[in-house]
This record gives sequence, structure tokens and C-alpha cells, in this order.
Amino acid sequence: MTYKTHIVGGIVLAGVIHQHFFTLSELEFTCYYIGATAGSLLPDIDHPQSFISQQMSLLHYPFKKLGHRKGTHSLLGLGIMWGIVYSLFGTNYVGLGVVLGYLSHLLLDMLNPKGVPLLYPFTKYKYKIIGKIHTGERGEEIVYFILMVALLFLVVKGLSQISFLGL
Ligand SMILES: [Zn+2]
Repeated sequence: MTYKTHIVGGIVLAGVIHQHFFTLSELEFTCYYIGATAGSLLPDIDHPQSFISQQMSLLHYPFKKLGHRKGTHSLLGLGIMWGIVYSLFGTNYVGLGVVLGYLSHLLLDMLNPKGVPLLYPFTKYKYKIIGKIHTGERGEEIVYFILMVALLFLVVKGLSQISFLGL
């Protein structure tokens, strides 16, 4: 998937969790969604041509030899990222946003025929959901469109709750 699809996917997953489970102050809201956006891009730090590697080449350096869609595209990678974010920010909404964004990335990549090695390094088996959506092709456009509709729905729902509370 391209970075645009991953960003929208991260925000949608974070938005669904946010609207169902908790309320956020303005600062928490900003931190949470910035975290989700960053988390949605982080797994592709292992790919030299990815958006995040192009923007932050220094971050890509340690992952150069690992290869694409290995450690960073696994539950271990998600756990390590959670540990890093937790130690940097503690238990706050930045960390939760990053973890949800990261998880959304893995789920979206599982739509691709290449799949995702969720249990790497224990097994290199690549898990898929559908596994027929190719990056940058018609299938991804459809996924992107569905995610944008879901995002619009979440925004409208969120705005209606704000105006309801303001009455
Ligand atoms: Zn990826």
C-alpha cells in the first residue's frame, strides 16, 4: 500500500477506537492522531524508497540490511515499537495512537499478495487477508476510497457529538 492509504487507515482505526472507548482533550486529540499517523508509516522504515525512509533517511539506516517486510512487519516489531514509545512518552495517547497506526499498517499490508510475516522471526510464513490488493493499482484505489468514506463518517459522527454536547 502507498503511504496515503496507510495514513488514512491509521487515522480510521484510531478514530474508531477513540469514538467507541474514550474522550480526549484538545491536546490529547492532537497527540493521539499525530501518533496514529506516525505509527501508520513506521513499518515501512525498512524500505529505502518508502515515504518515511525518504523523509527520515537516518531512521532507515539501522534497517538497511534487514530487508523489506520482515522484522518491522511483525507482532514483535509492533511490541518493540510499543516499548520504545512507552519509554519515551509513558502511558499516554501518543503511544496508543502509534500502536494503532502501526497495527493498521500491518492489517492493510495483509491485503497484499506478499502478505506479512506476523510471527517473524519464529516463522517466515506470510499471513494474508484476501491477499489480492496490489500496491498502487485499482484494488488499492478502492481500499483508499472505502477508508475515505469511513473517515468522513467518523468526522461527521464526531462533529455531531460535539454540537450535541454544546446544546
Ligand atoms: Zn508495509
